[in-house]
Amino acid sequence: MRLKDKRLNILEYFYIPPILKGMGITLRHFFSRKVTVQYPKVKKEIYPRFRGAHRLEKNEQGREKCVACELCATVCPSKAITIEAAESPDPEVEKYPLRYEINVLRCIFCGFCVEACPKEAIAMTDRYELADYSREALVYNKEMLLK
Ligand code: SF4
Ligand code: SF4
Repeated sequence: MRLKDKRLNILEYFYIPPILKGMGITLRHFFSRKVTVQYPKVKKEIYPRFRGAHRLEKNEQGREKCVACELCATVCPSKAITIEAAESPDPEVEKYPLRYEINVLRCIFCGFCVEACPKEAIAMTDRYELADYSREALVYNKEMLLK
């Protein structure tokens, strides 16, 4: 049967059934458990495996664990990591990162750098509020990453 041949009753003519159906859905959600979070006043719990901003880990002496092997920079699909290696003042370690930068604007938070690191020198935190006012502020240097 084609639509134009269908005869509508008075309720259908004034769209009453779909309006009632819509009101029913509204009422059902009105009394159901709320899922909206009043961000930023209220923050959701972060899952343990969440990958947020990076952190460079320190050793017992308070120095960076990183030995500037550049595996993280090599594996990074976004080429977001820049490392400049230098001879380490620690006789036990060959090299250290004179410069270590992560360009957060390029990073896709895949976690490959963390997986690749043989020294567990880099980790990803649960920090996700990364907005800033300039592009420069989103290139994290070694000092920022060691905090
Ligand atoms: S999380 Fe992924 S994209 Fe970001 S710096 Fe690490 S390897 Fe590169
Ligand atoms: S963070 Fe790890 S993988 Fe990257 S340069 Fe340092 S030691 Fe190597």
